[in-house]
Amino acid sequence: MPEPLLIGSANRGKARELAELIEGLPWEVRHLGDYDPIEEPEETEATFEGNALLKARYYCDRLKVACVADDSGLLVDALDGAPGVYSARYAGPECDPVKNNAKLLQALETFPWHERTARFVCCAVFLRPGGEPFIATGTVEGHIAMDCFGDKGFGYDPVFVPQGYDRSFAEMDPAEKHTLSHRGKAFAQIRAYLESLG
Ligand code: IMP
Repeated sequence: MPEPLLIGSANRGKARELAELIEGLPWEVRHLGDYDPIEEPEETEATFEGNALLKARYYCDRLKVACVADDSGLLVDALDGAPGVYSARYAGPECDPVKNNAKLLQALETFPWHERTARFVCCAVFLRPGGEPFIATGTVEGHIAMDCFGDKGFGYDPVFVPQGYDRSFAEMDPAEKHTLSHRGKAFAQIRAYLESLG
């Protein structure tokens, strides 16, 4: 019987990506919807690693199941690293990706292409009940586009153009995004770790 592995994310776009990234491993992948409803943990830490650990510990302790969780965000150089750990709620508590992207494009309105450098960072954690966490980090460099392009992916994908490409993440198929993305890189390490467990 494969051991259950919970994807510890209530964000549907992200949960879908995480499931794709650990596909094919001998684990029984579960989502939060497979359990009785449980409140989301408050992300109170100041770093991606702190928040990823907090989420993995929260779900692992409460639901007594091995869990993968991540925390990620977008860091824009011209905005001194904002929105950073506040990426999900950049445009306020009631915000959505459309409002977040609009606020970001507005903040960068006067900045030319070469001053629009940015990176996505992802910290991913695997934790088993009673075990020690395995922590992995991935980064992808790029630029913030002058407008929104494409309708795939989620979050800031329409405004992020990875280094060396002239298309946004939202114009790429998931498989292409995974080979380049912060989350793809962090979860390649998680995959290798899970494979090493046998
Ligand atoms: P988290 O759920 O706290 O990790 O929030 C991360 C937020 O960062 C998401 O809600 C998005 O706004 C943004 N983000 C992280 N990774 C990506 C990505 O791959 N594409 C687009 N936006 C992302």
